[in-house]
Amino acid sequence: MRAEDAEVFSRAIAAVKGEGRYRVFADIQREQGRFPHAKLRMADGSRRDIVVWCSNDYLGQGQSPEVISAMHAAACKVGAGSGGTRNISGTTSYHVDLEAELAQLHGKESALLFTSGYVSNDATLSTFGKLFPDLWIFSDELNHASMIEGIRRAKATVRVFRHNDLQHLESLLNEAPPGAPKLIAFESVYSMDADVAPIGAICDIAEAYGAMTYLDEVHGVGLYGEGGGGIAERDGQMHRVDFIEGTLAKAFGVMGGYVTGPSAAIDAIRSFAPGFIFTTSLAPSLAAAALESVRLVRACPHMRTRLAERAERLKQMFADAGLPVMPSTTHIVPLLVGDAALCKQISDTLLFDHGIYVQPINYPTVPRGTERLRFTPSPFHDDALMEKLLDALVAVWAQLNLERAA
Ligand code: PLP
Repeated sequence: MRAEDAEVFSRAIAAVKGEGRYRVFADIQREQGRFPHAKLRMADGSRRDIVVWCSNDYLGQGQSPEVISAMHAAACKVGAGSGGTRNISGTTSYHVDLEAELAQLHGKESALLFTSGYVSNDATLSTFGKLFPDLWIFSDELNHASMIEGIRRAKATVRVFRHNDLQHLESLLNEAPPGAPKLIAFESVYSMDADVAPIGAICDIAEAYGAMTYLDEVHGVGLYGEGGGGIAERDGQMHRVDFIEGTLAKAFGVMGGYVTGPSAAIDAIRSFAPGFIFTTSLAPSLAAAALESVRLVRACPHMRTRLAERAERLKQMFADAGLPVMPSTTHIVPLLVGDAALCKQISDTLLFDHGIYVQPINYPTVPRGTERLRFTPSPFHDDALMEKLLDALVAVWAQLNLERAA
């Protein structure tokens, strides 16, 4: 490598460090059966106990004995990897059964598996652009990076509407020729701001303008709705949304992504999306574990009730202590810090002095000046853990001379 090329890498890193948002990964070892407890590997190689407060394993399903045993059984029965792309020997009964289960979960005709939620958004949205050369896409400004990337690669005419702003969405829809194919892409739960989309109202608008709807339920699936179908199910709107996309890595605690929708559309995505076609399919053990997890989560509404109760309790505790908890109508509990370096300092102090792991959320994940700590209580974060967290936060706020509301 030429010295001037190496310099480009170093300068990029120096800039990130200068802004105080250089990412340092905590090296943790989750402990099977003890979620949310884990061990942190220190610089000297020793390990210390920590409690994880920022996991997206929202229901602790990654530690469920049934899910682990399904994974284990599949690996013992059929081996470690799938051995190919879906088209070339990589489709197993686990994949097929999981797709059927996911279609049912969202009340859709078909489902298609991908290797992650990121890939499902990127591959599907970019393929829409191939299938509809004159497509117009209307995208919420807070959509996830995977949707933005897929939309960018769709090479469609793109309009970005202000977050959850229905009037703005409508005014942009009016710019499109009435006969043009249109797609509204949005999320159900916006995981950094902890708010939800007005799905019913967006479907009303979509119907009025003849637009298709594409909903990312990554942070809603498993957690809302009687059967865990997500916010769309909770709001009675699931049947009105054309495409529902989700992940197997958060509420279901495993790995992988998917999109559900009408059979003909899913068949077309299956046939045209390079991100689906040209990659090895999920390991059968992952598909088996995810299948078990989806079945369990669908059948256990009490997990969702408990999660909601835990999140409400934590929000109330933060508010009562005068901590800057951001408004949240979901299971996600963000605390506003508003400065990248400070956010990292609070996170480091919590981790090294109190054994509490909550990752700083900085730009580009959130806008500069809105840096925050994002807490994700699960059904397994009990009252004692919450009290310890609160005590630690109050101590850190005092140590760093940060303001608390009266
Ligand atoms: N969509 C949203 C809204 C997300 O927040 C994420 C990841 O956090 C993804 C998609 C990607 O999902 P996965 O982690 O399964 O790749």
